[in-house]
Amino acid sequence: MDIQTIGIVGAGQMGNGIAHVMALAGYDVTMTDVSTDALEAAMATITGNMDRQVSRDKITAQAQKEALARIHTTDSLIKLGPSDLIIEAATERETVKQAIFEDLLPHLAPRTILTSNTSSISITRLASRTDRPEKFMGFHFMNPVPVMQLVELIRGIATDAETFDACKKVVDRLGKTAASAEDFPAFIVNRILMPMINEAVYTLYEGVGNVQSIDSSMKLGANHPMGPLELADFIGLDTCLAIMNVLHDGLADTKYRPCPLLTKYVEAGWLGRKSQRGFYDYRGDSPVPTR
Ligand code: NAD
Repeated sequence: MDIQTIGIVGAGQMGNGIAHVMALAGYDVTMTDVSTDALEAAMATITGNMDRQVSRDKITAQAQKEALARIHTTDSLIKLGPSDLIIEAATERETVKQAIFEDLLPHLAPRTILTSNTSSISITRLASRTDRPEKFMGFHFMNPVPVMQLVELIRGIATDAETFDACKKVVDRLGKTAASAEDFPAFIVNRILMPMINEAVYTLYEGVGNVQSIDSSMKLGANHPMGPLELADFIGLDTCLAIMNVLHDGLADTKYRPCPLLTKYVEAGWLGRKSQRGFYDYRGDSPVPTR
């Protein structure tokens, strides 16, 4: 099937990035969020990020104008019903995602493909609670969406070939690269990345290093472009904790237990860049380690 209209649920850092790349690729986008502030902030972020692309000659001012005109925002989830493809990118909590799909179902066109940008939750389980498990799959972008090349495509147990092929075509049209992953907790990238970040938090918790020494060790000693704690702040500590919980519950192995210090930061509301404080404090001119 040919996809032309895309509905995006959740206008946070992933939702706005997905809207950005879809609109530039020529898709018509409708984006919704429970928070109208989030929708306004998302449009401001998309405009600012495209401004930067124009100033660096990555896109033309005309392409920006046309792309922005293709993005519509609404506070009504059901307006997304007629879309060809829906990408859910709301908060990483299964009850939230489940409720979104339940509310959407009665308003969907029969052809609509449903996908989730979840970093870790079972696609098969999310799909099983809808009326179209064969038209349901994982569509997992990386952060920041306009920059990162990879998209993981995750088939649930019932996903049919036509659905997979339609989503693969979208990834191709975005100029990105698809990696096919099986539906096991956290798929490929986060199955490997999150235990490393969690181990960095344990290293901090046990006093083996401080924020600065841990990050510079991994940057200079392992040639990582960002330190693991800096990266955790970038991803969002609530998202990191949610993924560790999914790995711990889903694979029932104590090696995935979330570090208590990660839990404490999330309990404090120190979620990283998005709340201006995490392993670093971002409220000043340059980030200052919080430990
Ligand atoms: P975020 O906190 O920046 O944004 C989530 C948005 O969802 C918020 O604006 C919130 O208001 C909205 N929301 C919550 N409940 C909603 C509902 N019922 N209906 C509509 N909107 C609702 O989070 P994010 O980092 O953008 O993550 C979103 C999803 O993308 C999660 O599933 C996450 O696991 C996944 N993801 C995140 C990253 C990352 O690096 N942050 C990378 C890949 C995938």
